[in-house]
Amino acid sequence: MNFEPLKNCKYAVIGNPIAHSKSPQMQNAGFEYYGMGSIYGKILVENEELADFVEYARKNLSGFNITVPYKQDIIPFVDEMSEVAELSGSVNTIRIENGRFIATSTDGVGLAAALQVHFHKEVKGLKVIFAGAGGAAQAAAWYFACNGAESIFVANRSLAKAEHLADSLKKAFPELKTGVCELADTEKMTDFVRRSDVLIQATSVGLKDDDGTAFDLKCLEGAENLCVYDLIYKETQLLKYCHSGGIECANGSDMLLYQGAASFEFWTNKKAPVEAMRKGLEGK
Ligand code: NAP
Repeated sequence: MNFEPLKNCKYAVIGNPIAHSKSPQMQNAGFEYYGMGSIYGKILVENEELADFVEYARKNLSGFNITVPYKQDIIPFVDEMSEVAELSGSVNTIRIENGRFIATSTDGVGLAAALQVHFHKEVKGLKVIFAGAGGAAQAAAWYFACNGAESIFVANRSLAKAEHLADSLKKAFPELKTGVCELADTEKMTDFVRRSDVLIQATSVGLKDDDGTAFDLKCLEGAENLCVYDLIYKETQLLKYCHSGGIECANGSDMLLYQGAASFEFWTNKKAPVEAMRKGLEGK
């Protein structure tokens, strides 16, 4: 494995693919703000190379981010986990102390910060519906459950995955209200939407320019008090519909920013310079 790209780095993001990642420009803006230089790199790790990377990291890095597809695969190498990482079975940030891996997931806290900034919504008491039940939805749903959300509905293409998530949440938090449906079940979707403050679009539908939406937009009709947050970073069909219909909405770029800010603080114990990191992310 070639660790050359990490030669001067103390931090990095790993994944496969990784070329598209904007984390280095965001994190380096944060490190530069504190005069620490440009010390965050990115590295493509193939499946069979994860153990080699781990060995390298233990000796040479101070921390790293983990993205698709390694958020679960990294767990056997971890020495200590935060509650939310343990419960969700997902890790996106590791701090290295004397070769030991201390792990957490900042996806949920990043999403919570974005909901606060855009919609002035607190997680405590929040009623939320997730469209999608993949890794991002799972990490966020566990963070919301751990931090006092009132209800979490999960709609997914494959019902079994939604059921597994909702059942596990309910088992850990018996007072939490839960419900599940298929994304194609417009009647049930409509019911859940009406009983929610926020809909989180957490499927990968919308990533491609010619994508439609993961569910029938009819279920949003009359949902005047609903806010819609799409984890995808761009103007999806869902967001276009919300904008044209006067539904409060935002895309996923601030979740990326705030999860990065939380990782920065987890590593450095310094307040993340969020505006500098935002400029870094935007390439300014
Ligand atoms: P993932 O684990 O692969 O999950 C993908 C989800 O999309 C699953 O619920 C899957 O349903 C659903 N899906 C895929 N194709 C579909 C289709 N044609 N129709 C309906 N549902 C479909 O991915 P992830 O890591 O959770 O990421 C989900 C999205 O969030 C991605 O777009 C990613 O870019 C975005 N994301 C954004 C941030 C941020 O910081 N803003 C952070 C993480 C992720 P099944 O279970 O039925 O397959």
